[in-house]
Amino acid sequence: MGNIEKKAILYFRNKVINWGKVNYVDYPWRLTDNIWHSIVAEIMLQRTKADQVIPVYKDFCEKYSSPQEFQNSLDFNENNIFSSLGLNWRNEILRSTTNYLVINGIPDNRIDFIKVPGIGDYVSSAVLSFHLGQRALLIDSNIVRLYCRYWGFEYNNESRRKRWLRELSDQLTPYKNVKQYNYSVLDFGMAICLPKPRCNSCPLKKKCSYFKNSIL
Ligand code: SF4
Repeated sequence: MGNIEKKAILYFRNKVINWGKVNYVDYPWRLTDNIWHSIVAEIMLQRTKADQVIPVYKDFCEKYSSPQEFQNSLDFNENNIFSSLGLNWRNEILRSTTNYLVINGIPDNRIDFIKVPGIGDYVSSAVLSFHLGQRALLIDSNIVRLYCRYWGFEYNNESRRKRWLRELSDQLTPYKNVKQYNYSVLDFGMAICLPKPRCNSCPLKKKCSYFKNSIL
């Protein structure tokens, strides 16, 4: 895709960041400086609502401060960490992730992060940008929907895997304040640009392609 005008990028970014400043939610995994806990949180949050994850996450963090502690526990081989969250296949993922981290240590860069079993592009970007102060492109289904609607690109199940989407995300993601931008755009996609979008309360509507087409 071609380059978007700098002015248009800044408009989008500033609107999203300003919305995020007012609507930021300080979930416990956002406040931790324990990278192991932040990885566990991202695995717990996959396809699960944040409010459901909070008690399970807090309980886990109180018991296990490191992959080693978890690996040595009775919980490690019993499939009960995710029992209240459903999606029990995540027990196996967490075990594989834990085993790898015990042997190799916790990574501090993208190349090493994506070698960790159970950690894909999204989790590695989330941990790098939220907890390690590194610029990383955050791309999940809510963010893709927001980007495609606003900028007027095709949106379907395949959009997130397209090169142009990554290039768009790269242009929109700032080099400074990446943590703030990524939190804001993530929450914005979940709260405003929903599958049934809340356009009337959206600060982006003046310049949003989807909104402009919907009122024609
Ligand atoms: S105006 Fe509507 S479609 Fe456009 S970004 Fe806002 S919520 Fe999404």
